[in-house]
Amino acid sequence: MTSLADLPIRDDLRGKTPYGAPQKAVRIALNVNENTHPVPDEVVVHVAAAIERELRTINRYPDREFTALREHLAGYLSRGATPIAPEQIWAANGSNEVIQHILQAFGGPGRRVLGFPPTYSMHSIIAAGTGTEWVAGERDDDFALSPETAVAAVRRADPDVVFLCAPNNPTGTPLGLDTITAVYEASRGIVMVDEAYAEFMPEGQPDALSLLPGRERLVVSRTMSKAFAFAGARLGYLAADPAVIDALRLVRLPYHLSGLTQAAAVAALEHAPTMLRTVGEIREQRDRLLVELARLGYAPHDSWANFVLFGGVADPQAAFEHLLAHDILIRDVGLPNHLRVTAGTPAETTEFLEVLARMNR
Ligand code: PMP
Repeated sequence: MTSLADLPIRDDLRGKTPYGAPQKAVRIALNVNENTHPVPDEVVVHVAAAIERELRTINRYPDREFTALREHLAGYLSRGATPIAPEQIWAANGSNEVIQHILQAFGGPGRRVLGFPPTYSMHSIIAAGTGTEWVAGERDDDFALSPETAVAAVRRADPDVVFLCAPNNPTGTPLGLDTITAVYEASRGIVMVDEAYAEFMPEGQPDALSLLPGRERLVVSRTMSKAFAFAGARLGYLAADPAVIDALRLVRLPYHLSGLTQAAAVAALEHAPTMLRTVGEIREQRDRLLVELARLGYAPHDSWANFVLFGGVADPQAAFEHLLAHDILIRDVGLPNHLRVTAGTPAETTEFLEVLARMNR
């Protein structure tokens, strides 16, 4: 048996372990911030019909420019305050691949990306995979990121790319638009705002899309994996200046989005209001977690996403195992005395809280 260490692998990948939250078959999975509600039946029927139609031409390569999907994504984003044109849209197999495209085009060997840990762990892993140097900036108290703190990090690192995450995973922390604009003005490179959880922000809250006009180095990434309840389909996307989209065309593999993915995503977007019906209820469960975890004596951090990071956990591993023994999977994100839990259905949230309350502390 050959081991990884025996292979002529790149030196910078030696000794690394692959990313991956444990994938366990449990009754209540609250570990990777999915929408835990299944896709409504009427949408399943519509998506299945679209996939069947697509299968009749599956002998041919798909539309490399995913024209219909870009139009639908632009329409979806334009329901907010900022009109977004199809030429401003890029998509790939999950926003992870979108982020990889960004670093393939704007990062790479000899270049630096600045991020602000604790943040989405794939940001630094994709940096490593693309040979981009990862520079870690500091945060303020309670994981906040003020314009001053962020700009100081930009000045020190002089990065080619800056990754911001709004709201931030794994902490749930909101990010002010003032921090985004200050980072943009202080930097010369691409500024990417990862808004994977944007739909869970308070109603009417302005998002980073509103900052796009006139800022050709700003990129806002989104995903259908979270609020949209479409994680298994793998569809992430971004909005930016059309010139940025042209840059991403240089690094994508031809036909990277399968015809089945395009058809499924278009059909789901045609039912956007139905797909997003659960967002209000998920926000309520998140706010309930904030209240109830504090009542149980933990220290939850304010969250604008569909999950809550809570401190005051004496032994995170023991708490994780206690919940798992009751068929509930949450996430140890490696922060001392903290755990993260996704806001599920009311019944899932109730069961999580009840099992946690019964734990010997
Ligand atoms: N960005 C953030 C902040 C995330 O939390 C996640 C998923 N956990 C992603 C991007 C990637 O999502 P996907 O590849 O499914 O679009």
